[in-house]
Amino acid sequence: MLPDRLAPDDFAAAPRTHEGRLALARMPHLAPLLAAAEGEAWLQIASSLDEHGQRVLEGRIEAAVPLTCQRCLGLYRYPVAEAFRVVVVGSEAEGEDLPAEAEPYVSAGPVQPQAVAEEEILLALPAVALHPSGACEAPAHDAGAQRETLSPFAVLRGRVRSDGEDGA
Ligand SMILES: [Zn+2]
Repeated sequence: MLPDRLAPDDFAAAPRTHEGRLALARMPHLAPLLAAAEGEAWLQIASSLDEHGQRVLEGRIEAAVPLTCQRCLGLYRYPVAEAFRVVVVGSEAEGEDLPAEAEPYVSAGPVQPQAVAEEEILLALPAVALHPSGACEAPAHDAGAQRETLSPFAVLRGRVRSDGEDGA
């Protein structure tokens, strides 16, 4: 079972591993990008303290994210399979003090595994969702009209990404 939150006490020298499934449609930044409100992510996450006493989250995220292919406008399940390792810091400034190779994760209070998973998925998504070459469905007759209605999502997606980078 995945805990909803990991408090500072949940981090110790000996790693504690949790795993479970998360509904993609319940992830607030990811949900507006989905072509269908379906699908789950599998998350494995281990909490530990490193030799400097800093909180570390290490794990793996796997998901098939339903996106709309921008070439044929068909449903495209984008495969995400990412390993991650982040160091939990209380502020952006604290993150800047980390060694260059460390990826900071800013969280003032307890860490929500779902939020870590969502951020990793958003970082893994392509800038433009496209089926692999040759795998497109035959384009629909009204493809042009559908493309018009899709553009707000592209705008929203750009905004969500820059929010994320602010550490919100
Ligand atoms: Zn396609």
